[in-house]
Amino acid sequence: MKSETSDIRQLDTLGRVVLPKKMRTALGISENDNLRISLESNAIVIRREVPLCAICRRDRDLTQIGSSYVCLACAKEIASKI
Ligand SMILES: [Zn+2]
Repeated sequence: MKSETSDIRQLDTLGRVVLPKKMRTALGISENDNLRISLESNAIVIRREVPLCAICRRDRDLTQIGSSYVCLACAKEIASKI
């Protein structure tokens, strides 16, 4: 896959690099978002981690409970059993 956008950034002494604002904006990445960093075919790939329901794995209508997410349908099902 050919890169649509590229930029050169300098790695600091602690191994940190600033992701270009235009790329963060294009992907909807905001401060404090979780990012998944993986090594794929000699490339470091950074993806925005999309939260999923801990029960059904859906990505919509989520409510955060502690460090996990539960969708509205699963939350209603849990509440009906209490
Ligand atoms: Zn669910």
